[in-house]
Amino acid sequence: MSTCIFCEIVNKKKKATILHEDDQVVAFEDTRPQAPIHFLVIPRPHIETVLDADKETLGNLLAIAVQEAKKKGLDSNGFRTVINCKRYAGQSVNHLHVHVMGGRWFSWPPG
Ligand code: 5GP
Ligand code: ZN
Repeated sequence: MSTCIFCEIVNKKKKATILHEDDQVVAFEDTRPQAPIHFLVIPRPHIETVLDADKETLGNLLAIAVQEAKKKGLDSNGFRTVINCKRYAGQSVNHLHVHVMGGRWFSWPPG
């Protein structure tokens, strides 16, 4: 079975500031925030990239991303969600994760 730092967070072997957890999904604060609010939403199983996820998983990740964004008040001014996939996008942890960032303006196109 594959494992990684995000699996360690899921299994409570590594500390994280957990915002939400259920049978499918865990959400926690990013340790190197790129915005005043920056958290990650991941599936419990070790799924490497968005290419490997089924519809149910993708739906659960986005639903929790939105739920937690609302809890943090990001629905008033908006926020950005990002899923980096493989090396061209700069994916550095090979466990699927949705970034949710807010609390500032974001430029477009992204770098
Ligand atoms: P990626 O570049 O793969 O899209 O994003 C990985 C994210 O995971 C980065 O924003 C990075 O700051 C975050 N990260 C890396 N290691 C840890 C960790 O041990 N704990 C937490 N909470 N976030 C991490
Ligand atoms: Zn993993």
